[in-house]
Amino acid sequence: MDTSKEYIKMSDCPEIQAAISKNKIDWRNQGYCKKHKCLTTEDMDGCPQCGGMIAKIYKDNELGGYIDRTSLWDEEMCEYNQWIVLPYQDQLQGIYCSVMVNRTEVFDLISEIFRFANTNPISEVCKSMEQLWLAFVMWELHAKQWLATEEKWVALPAIKEKI
Ligand SMILES: [Zn+2]
Repeated sequence: MDTSKEYIKMSDCPEIQAAISKNKIDWRNQGYCKKHKCLTTEDMDGCPQCGGMIAKIYKDNELGGYIDRTSLWDEEMCEYNQWIVLPYQDQLQGIYCSVMVNRTEVFDLISEIFRFANTNPISEVCKSMEQLWLAFVMWELHAKQWLATEEKWVALPAIKEKI
């Protein structure tokens, strides 16, 4: 998945972090430890510097491990706001579909992202599918656009009206 600096910065916003920490984090997710400025390892051994993990994970489960969602952000395992969780494409699609309940068909979803990529200039600066889906979710659900030059999300309702 995309673990670039751009994607970490794009993921570092309250809208996405709130949505993903609510019920979407799973064992695949990598996180960026803000305190130590590094990514968790892919095998979920946590932050290489502090050993902290983005969620409490039980690896002995017969299914290969699961996350106890009730203990997300457990004080023992991590510090609140220490992490930027990097969402996968399907998680971003899930966030979108959980709000836009009338757009849950696969073809509808593909049509929506195609329309977005064709009409929104942000698609030209997105360097991965993850970035494109993240920009799509932020645009559709929060009317915010990524300003690559300033590395932040900004509300641009005026532009949305033009499209
Ligand atoms: Zn750390």
